[in-house]
Amino acid sequence: MAFLPESIRNDFPILQQTVHKNRQLVYFDNAATTQRPTQVIEAMNHCYRKDFSNVHRGIHSLSERMTDQFEHARQTVQRLLNAEFPEEIIFSAGTTAAINTVAHSFGESLQAGDEIIITEMEHHSNIVPWQQLAARKNLKLQWLSVSDDGQLVLDELKSLLNDRTKMVAVTAVSNVLGTINPIQEITSIAHAAGAKVMVDAAQAIPHGQLDVRKLDCDFLVFSGHKILGPSGIGILYGKRSLLDALPPFFGGGSMIHTVEKSGFTPALLPAKFEAGTPPIVEAIGLASAIQYVQQIGLPAIEQHEKALVQQCISGIQSIPGIKILGPAADDRVGLVAFSIDGINSQDLARFLDFRGFAVRAGHHCAMPLHQRFQIPNSVRASFYLYNTSDEVSHFCQTLPAVIEKLQ
Ligand code: PMP
Repeated sequence: MAFLPESIRNDFPILQQTVHKNRQLVYFDNAATTQRPTQVIEAMNHCYRKDFSNVHRGIHSLSERMTDQFEHARQTVQRLLNAEFPEEIIFSAGTTAAINTVAHSFGESLQAGDEIIITEMEHHSNIVPWQQLAARKNLKLQWLSVSDDGQLVLDELKSLLNDRTKMVAVTAVSNVLGTINPIQEITSIAHAAGAKVMVDAAQAIPHGQLDVRKLDCDFLVFSGHKILGPSGIGILYGKRSLLDALPPFFGGGSMIHTVEKSGFTPALLPAKFEAGTPPIVEAIGLASAIQYVQQIGLPAIEQHEKALVQQCISGIQSIPGIKILGPAADDRVGLVAFSIDGINSQDLARFLDFRGFAVRAGHHCAMPLHQRFQIPNSVRASFYLYNTSDEVSHFCQTLPAVIEKLQ
């Protein structure tokens, strides 16, 4: 079946609007967050109109219906990731919350002098929780470098690993460079040295199939809003044996087996890591979003994005003074970040906004990466399944005109 972004767009009411004096909105900020199709909005609406109740608590029809749908959503995520057991899927508030959970729970047993490896291309979400843990526990944080063409310098990994390394925390896809990292290879190198691997899949999840058993990662995290789902929900996947052995992070209702004045015993998985009322409707919205992308097909979406990013890079690469970050178009997901000599990225994004283009400007929560490339910030255009080749051509034509205005 042909991939037709023009008809996919009919499912996204938010895209049918103009901004600034009737400029058609061109939404190129998908790496920050994607938009929701009517199917997701309706699935969530339906919950609030017909079924809403707390889960796992009430012995009444609404609660039972809601609990069934919530657990069904867990199985949808399990199948998406090819996880072995549903209890390996923990609902959390997002990637950031999930990484903090891993850093706290996994970090609990680490000793002064233990080491964690992260990379220069991490989002702040996968830097700061480890810095905080390192400060609390007196650990050493090691940084895997990024090459000039935006790839991880994998040769360095073996020399950074030693018998004190407990964790390699790495992004599957860079939110600035678009680089697709060789996670399976990283996992096998890290495991050979006795370290665990946590994968930040926030940018990878919308663009292609992830199989946690094939990757053999120990933990993997992502946010629902990057894959057409609602905000306020994310996933922490962990191998069952590891999650079983870790202490819970958040304490409260639902995560306990018993509570006495003298202390508590934790519940079994997944409840142990789901304290309090979970994001119920958001979980159902996420399941609906996953079904939506699966119906279209993740490989078809990936191919479409690759075509758009190739078109964009070849359309802008010869603009005088442009510096495009990251690897060749073939080796990246559908996003491109760039800076222009002598032009402030925020000004450029503001002027593009006047023409209808929603792009991102700034450090994209990746300051160490921008420091690595010796630029303070960049402009990022990021594409998804509803973007069209016409929108990209329009962008490639508009950008030089906007630059000229700013010079
Ligand atoms: N990691 C990466 C690679 C990201 O792109 C993002 C979102 N920009 C995050 C982590 C954080 O996700 P969230 O804000 O949904 O917690």
